Amino acid sequence: MSSDDNAPVPHFIRNIIENDLASGKHKAIVTRFPPEPNGYLHVGHAKSICLNFGLALDYRGKCNLRFDDTNPEKESEEYAQSIQDDVRWLGFQWDGPVRWASDYFDALHDYAIELIRQGKAYVDELSVEEMREFRGTLTEAGKNSPYRDRSVEENLDLFGRMRAGEFPDGAKVLRAKIDMASPNINMRDPAIYRIRRAHHIRTGDKWCIYPMYDYTHCISDALEHITHSLCTLEFEDHRPLYDWVLDNITIDCHPQQIEFSRLELQYTITSKRKLLQLVTEKKVSGWDDPRMPTIQGMRRRGYTPEGIREFARRIGISKSDNLVDMGVLEGCIREDLETRAPRVMAVVKPLKVVIANFVEGETTSREAGFHPNHPEFGSRLVPFSKEIWIEADDFSENPPPGWQRLVLGGEVRLRYSYVIKCDEVVKDADGLVTELRCSIDPDTLGKNPAGRKVKGVIHWLSAEHALPAEIRLYDRLFTVAEPDADKARDFHTFLNPASLTVVQGWVEPCVNQAAPETRYQFERLGYFCTDRRDHQPGGKLVFNRTVTLKDSWAKEQG
Ligand code: ATP
Ligand code: MG
Repeated sequence: MSSDDNAPVPHFIRNIIENDLASGKHKAIVTRFPPEPNGYLHVGHAKSICLNFGLALDYRGKCNLRFDDTNPEKESEEYAQSIQDDVRWLGFQWDGPVRWASDYFDALHDYAIELIRQGKAYVDELSVEEMREFRGTLTEAGKNSPYRDRSVEENLDLFGRMRAGEFPDGAKVLRAKIDMASPNINMRDPAIYRIRRAHHIRTGDKWCIYPMYDYTHCISDALEHITHSLCTLEFEDHRPLYDWVLDNITIDCHPQQIEFSRLELQYTITSKRKLLQLVTEKKVSGWDDPRMPTIQGMRRRGYTPEGIREFARRIGISKSDNLVDMGVLEGCIREDLETRAPRVMAVVKPLKVVIANFVEGETTSREAGFHPNHPEFGSRLVPFSKEIWIEADDFSENPPPGWQRLVLGGEVRLRYSYVIKCDEVVKDADGLVTELRCSIDPDTLGKNPAGRKVKGVIHWLSAEHALPAEIRLYDRLFTVAEPDADKARDFHTFLNPASLTVVQGWVEPCVNQAAPETRYQFERLGYFCTDRRDHQPGGKLVFNRTVTLKDSWAKEQG
């Protein structure tokens, strides 16, 4: 890969920013990432994080982290904490302190009063059903509420009493007075404040009225002097409301809202609600289950921040559908790990091999580098002894054509070690292969055998020296590319029952002290990462398979 491959990919938002900087509309840009702390972030959010923070870095601007905390019942400190961890882990740092929409509750309240004073907001008390009925439809205009023309004084009084807690939850709302006949339903007098007696993670019980998202978001952006407010396409129809609010209050900033398409990733889901369902129904072990498309899940699985950022760069930014093959993400991770992860040997499906012509109790060790292109990664000794483990799949009694691994009577090279020949196959009463008896050619250490070619090379471990390890083999969470596309069939139907296989395998002694979250290539098997939660250096060793070496998935399924 040349370094140019990592250059920013141009897109329409970059064009807008470059024009704004060139024309002098803005001296510097300010973006923000505005999650609601109501769940863990997923790969779609990673796209948005890389966009907002990435633009700020590229154009030497700033990017804020702001929690949109206007739904107290669904929000928690745990979610807010995990989101901050995720942003930092991805390699970004927000400008200044973490910001909260609730920091602006007083200002938002004052702006509501300003709207009321101008006759641009009113207190309504239609019931929920009436409200729906009066709203009209996509093809029919709405109707004005009978409360729409209350006097400013009456509205001020009622709004004050809403705030003071005089009315029950839901009894009244404050609405912007815009246009009940607007073709855009978002402009038909949207609610901007509702009564909700809910304990808020930041403001406690100070408020019993809470501002609505659309009203809050644009004002929060403006108060932070955001220049470009980037959001996903479903907010396109909300833009006129974003602009209306800012045009009708006294505020010195009017950010430009720009929409781009959401990332949808095949073989998984990117809906917080559905991911929460998988967690609460215990279909997965938690938000950080390595099969989850959450940032915490990807992290625990062994994905790297660099790989995820490269993925975001490759998928690009546009307004058209962004349904991406999982293979693209896996490819980015694989490419990143190829140069980053030290290589060692492990056996996940062990078959015992006894070397007949090797002395019992003796060990010979050979030095092997951790990476062929990175001598600076160092090396370790790979011990050899009379009994070794090989991968059961590397021996066959009925080899397919082209087989280059071990067969009875055949030879194969043990990686970093001797050429061995299989002399005898030992089976149990059921005819299953339990052991191989082999012999080494003692003259093949570091050189080719005389007079013959041995093509196959297999990985192996000295049985006496190998350490047991729990190895978790992860596969895709769903069996179909778009598990939530079919409205008639619940996404649960498509959960992959084989998405996790736990095996007891063996690893080289040199990984014994690996800290949690250490990544390796297990030669010929894939990339693995010590588990963040369950792996204990020097104790119980637990490895998660991050990704296989080649894109074997498509082939196996196809
Ligand atoms: P919800 O609002 O239903 O809880 P959300 O996924 O929109 O879910 P937010 O916390 O509001 O969650 O999202 C924060 C930011 O991430 C928003 O700017 C949103 O547009 C963006 N975002 C969310 N999902 C995706 C996605 N799949 N692709 C790209 N950006 C996304
Ligand atoms: Mg949202």
